[in-house]
Amino acid sequence: MTTAQTTELDVQPTPLALLLLGREADPKSERGVECPGDLPSPSDPDLVARARAAKEKLGDKVFVLGHHYQRDEVIQFADVTGDSFKLARDAAARPEAEYIVFCGVHFMAESADILTSDDQKVVLPDLAAGCSMADMATAEQVAECWDVLTEAGIAEQVVPVSYMNSSADIKAFTGKHGGTICTSSNAQRALEWAFEQGEPSATKVLFLPDQHLGRNTAVRDMGMSLDDCVLYNPHKPNGGLTAEQLRNAKMILWRGHCSVHGRFSLDSVNDVRERIPGVNVLVHPECKHEVVSAADYVGSTEYIIKALEAAPAGSKWAIGTELNLVRRLANRFAPEGKEIVFLDKTVCFCSTMNRIDLPHLVWTLESLAEGNLVNRIEVDNETEAFAKLALERMLALP
Ligand code: SF4
Repeated sequence: MTTAQTTELDVQPTPLALLLLGREADPKSERGVECPGDLPSPSDPDLVARARAAKEKLGDKVFVLGHHYQRDEVIQFADVTGDSFKLARDAAARPEAEYIVFCGVHFMAESADILTSDDQKVVLPDLAAGCSMADMATAEQVAECWDVLTEAGIAEQVVPVSYMNSSADIKAFTGKHGGTICTSSNAQRALEWAFEQGEPSATKVLFLPDQHLGRNTAVRDMGMSLDDCVLYNPHKPNGGLTAEQLRNAKMILWRGHCSVHGRFSLDSVNDVRERIPGVNVLVHPECKHEVVSAADYVGSTEYIIKALEAAPAGSKWAIGTELNLVRRLANRFAPEGKEIVFLDKTVCFCSTMNRIDLPHLVWTLESLAEGNLVNRIEVDNETEAFAKLALERMLALP
């Protein structure tokens, strides 16, 4: 048998590696394509002044959205901050803004395009700012999964529930198949609604793409057992499940996760409790089930902010969510005597969120101010119509 010799010269950069470098294109990936323009140097001392001048020149024509996980250098130019759904709604409430600059990731800009008017143009400052979780469920994989469910004779009993953190294609699939979108704040209400869509004991939910949010909501908040949940692996034939396993499940969880929240472990929780006696552990529901089970409090980004606002002086908190936000909250509440630390010992930024930096923002605002529409994110009409249907079902949740 001959073994292929691999030399350094044979090694080709993978499309993913090129995307992470901000080069090349992969239309199938959330991580988008290369940035077409010449970015200002990150060391340019005038970047802040340039961003301010371009924004002033654009006036009411531009509305800058800043996701909670964005860097401080970008957040300072945000007209509004929040989670992805709140930001998309804020943009829709500003119809006079022709340009919506979304400092966040690709799926968020898609959602903003779906919810805003046709006259509003949504712009993502770096097209390589995607979301690894959203990339874990492609339209082809989900269509294949539906075939597997049909084969197993259960598709008619299955209601898809998709997390906001999914591509427009997945949202459209959800709308087309009678399902709804959820956020980390309303996942329980979305699941309750889904189980009411048919005979409750026979109905099943296909939860996309974050297994942890699905499992945590079903087990922690709704009293289901871990055995009620099965994990569908899109990289295995039939999802790695037998027809019997699918038929017996209540929750069919897609095998996706957030690379940031998925890093926290039970050790992180035990370790911080040892280091900081009396600490309150507060984590996001995208964390693993064992982490959520060991935490004192669990909730969405907005819940985390509100909990810290309401916390008494002298209290200590270890937060399991993205580091940019935790650092900002630690600085904000330090003068009130609240001690806030990051749950893990190693730093854990969302690398794709961090792609949006001041040079990209300056380039975007200056291009728009000169009349050049760059990096527009536009969802096609059919996808938009079905995705909107799923989003509207979420808005109608009790
Ligand atoms: S924090 Fe996680 S879910 Fe959010 S954009 Fe980054 S990878 Fe995606």
